[in-house]
Amino acid sequence: MSALVLRLSLPMAFLRWSSSISSVALVHAYPYLSLARWRLDAVPRRTITFSACCLEFRNVTGSRAVLKDMSFTELEQWVQSNGFRPTQALMLWKCLYGCNSWAQCHDELSGLNKDFKSMLTEKSNIKALSVKDILSASDGTRKLEHAEQMSLQAERLQILFTLEDGLVIETVVIPCSSGRTTVCVSSQVGCAMNCQFCYTGRMGFRRHLRTSEIVEQAVLSRRLFSREIGSITNVVFMGMGEPLQNIENVMKAAAIMTDEQGLHFSPRKVTVSTSGLVPQLKRFLKESSCALAVSLNATTDEVRNWIMPINRKYNLNQLLGTLREELRSKRGYKVLFEYVMLEGVNDSMEDARRLIRLVEGIPCKINLISFNPHCGSIFKTTNEDKMIEFRNILAASGCVVFLRQSRGDDQMAACGQLGNPGETQVPLLRTPLRFQTTL
Ligand code: SF4
Repeated sequence: MSALVLRLSLPMAFLRWSSSISSVALVHAYPYLSLARWRLDAVPRRTITFSACCLEFRNVTGSRAVLKDMSFTELEQWVQSNGFRPTQALMLWKCLYGCNSWAQCHDELSGLNKDFKSMLTEKSNIKALSVKDILSASDGTRKLEHAEQMSLQAERLQILFTLEDGLVIETVVIPCSSGRTTVCVSSQVGCAMNCQFCYTGRMGFRRHLRTSEIVEQAVLSRRLFSREIGSITNVVFMGMGEPLQNIENVMKAAAIMTDEQGLHFSPRKVTVSTSGLVPQLKRFLKESSCALAVSLNATTDEVRNWIMPINRKYNLNQLLGTLREELRSKRGYKVLFEYVMLEGVNDSMEDARRLIRLVEGIPCKINLISFNPHCGSIFKTTNEDKMIEFRNILAASGCVVFLRQSRGDDQMAACGQLGNPGETQVPLLRTPLRFQTTL
């Protein structure tokens, strides 16, 4: 069935979304709510209910404080500077992030005293994003046959958020049959890194996301989907953008996400991914207890200079040398290397052997990721047989290595399949001569 697109512009406060359009039910009246797009061939099997509070965007005028831009200490100071007690800051923090409340407007701040609530209504803004669109795709069961059978029953929920300035970012929620549900968050609008295999890279860089805009992706994912798909347990910074180029906001957002009184994600389950910004990576490893993933994708500087231009600034030697050095003092910590396999570019058995040598002495796990081609891409997907052969060479040498499919459960691992570059795209780099016949 081809994709049908339905545009709705309806006055309502609650909308029930289920497996057929006839079961879309209106519950409360609310003016001027506009929903953009529903793909009828891709609606989820489960019923999802969400309130207009998540969909409506209130323009923030004047200089109101954005509460979700603040760490707990900053919130405490701000509350005190407005004449209220620190204990009230904790109650507010719990309304924003804790105990399944995830408040999106001042009316939802329950349990706060009247004066405190009036001050908040007058001086603060709670909401950082509004939902533009939700797309759901069921990827069905995918199998890797041969030596090991891997079966993924995957369903992916893609949320498009509108920012205050009208730009759009994407967040992906990926439930997994093991009970682990991951939210993949964006850290920038677009990306400046220009990785040649990445759709987001074609957008170029538009702007950094604020702390509140990053945190809100996790808050709203929990609010929208927790009841239906269970607790969201993991966060990966593998959506749009290079997280470490926006390190201040990313580290602050990660600290808010792991705060025990609030969202309380385990630091081990919050993973920040980088293309290899060495100074920021060093700082991250020193200051954050969250997990780190490095998008490696090549075993020679020649290939990496081409497919990941950041390598011209920080080459493989600098990147891996820094990791080797920094991880020496972090007991029990393992970096995750992501390796998107591109046919004829980085997937030879010689690449596998070089990869073993490159990561020697670095406590790590390696994800081999199947490339998911997108519009305008010049690369092709490595076939399953070759991925398994590549994996087996690494495993035989003692590497901890996993095969990941780019869609469904592990779609987030592809890093940067999101976004809408539009018509004016960042041009691709010239393909090195020796690859021109391969591609
Ligand atoms: S792969 Fe990641 S770092 Fe590279 S362009 Fe895409 S979003 Fe940016």
